[in-house]
Amino acid sequence: MSKSYRGRFAPSPTGPLHAGSLLAALASWLDARAHGGQWLVRIEDVDTPRCVPGADHFILQQLATCGLLPDESPVWQSQRSALYRQALDRLIEIGVAYPCACSRKDIALAREALGESKARHGELVYPGTCRRGLQGRAGRAWRFRSDIAEIKQKQAEALMDTARAATETIAKASNIWEWADRRLGLQTQDLSGEVGDFVLLRADGLWAYQLAVVVDDAAQGITHVVRGEDLADNTVRQMALQTALGAPPVQYLHTPLELGANGEKLSKQNGAAALDLADPMTAMNRAAMALGLSPHPGNSNAALSAWVTEWRKHWG
Ligand code: GLU
Repeated sequence: MSKSYRGRFAPSPTGPLHAGSLLAALASWLDARAHGGQWLVRIEDVDTPRCVPGADHFILQQLATCGLLPDESPVWQSQRSALYRQALDRLIEIGVAYPCACSRKDIALAREALGESKARHGELVYPGTCRRGLQGRAGRAWRFRSDIAEIKQKQAEALMDTARAATETIAKASNIWEWADRRLGLQTQDLSGEVGDFVLLRADGLWAYQLAVVVDDAAQGITHVVRGEDLADNTVRQMALQTALGAPPVQYLHTPLELGANGEKLSKQNGAAALDLADPMTAMNRAAMALGLSPHPGNSNAALSAWVTEWRKHWG
């Protein structure tokens, strides 16, 4: 048990909680309680065009109905732009963020010229065109250098005195990152090859999820992230940003997903119904079972404390 454990649930208010998002909420709450830690709620409303007015307060009400009460007042990302700006300024200052003038079409054409047009999750790996400067074009977005590990290594080498540099073998920093997920085990990703230089501030002026999440997790002292497996692929980008910003590392646990009738992750698009406030226990039991816990006939308080005990045995 650690009093220094701080976890969070970070919903995007694009609609009410449904069985899928409840599962992440419940898992992060249980993990925090099982560790004797604190549990926070952060409303991730940076992507304003996707947010639904009122969904934020409705989600908080749904969580409260389930007995999932945060230990501190929730925060809204839309009110934290100054923090994201500061972080971007720092990244620019240390030479790992640069302005980019490329449109989607420019990126597609550049990839085609390289004979590679494969998109990954609908995103083309950015070929790094603007790393060399804007060539007179106007900057639209800001990107992060995915070769951060090599940059750090070169900076370390430059700092070493020449005599030592001549005699010591310096391991070549690799852009292949490794991390151990508490459920998925050892994960690897080639940040430069698979993801490329990613966006921090979008061309439409909105902060990118990757930057906001890392800045907030660090500012809020988050030590453990428990979230759905669909987000696992973002972890290396977030670790790279933590490294660049000097933020402490975080432990990750990615939960199984609730699947919709079409076998895909349950979402509003494939018919997930909003959690029924009149009968939260049906949804809570379903989420608990998807997490490998036993169904509980009681009310939410009794069920939650039984599940904390079970959770501790599996993940404590
Ligand atoms: N806001 C993200 C979502 O709702 C979750 C972010 C996270 O947990 O890191 O999908």
